[in-house]
Amino acid sequence: MVDDAVLSEIRAQLEGEREHLRGQLGELVPGTETSLTFDENFADSGQVAAELGEAQALAGPLLTQLADVEAALDKLGDGSYGRCEECGRPIGDARLEAMPHTRFCIDHA
Ligand SMILES: [Zn+2]
Repeated sequence: MVDDAVLSEIRAQLEGEREHLRGQLGELVPGTETSLTFDENFADSGQVAAELGEAQALAGPLLTQLADVEAALDKLGDGSYGRCEECGRPIGDARLEAMPHTRFCIDHA
């Protein structure tokens, strides 16, 4: 099990990453840093989507990352953080510290 000191460090790291990603998304597509329904908004406005096609392409990976970070923070909240989603085994501390948002152990990365 990951100890509490490491967990609070990881939480701080994840929160920093979330802010950073939201900031980057906000620069690419104004308004998204406060909107978690980014995908739906894009789908609803074809003209905007066309104009922002490039931004969307850039934003895609950021949104994926943001989703991972949010999921990790959720798991920290409910105590399920640090387990592989594939096999359910604890993920190594070193791996969590290097990649705090990871969902999988090294075998299932
Ligand atoms: Zn695994």
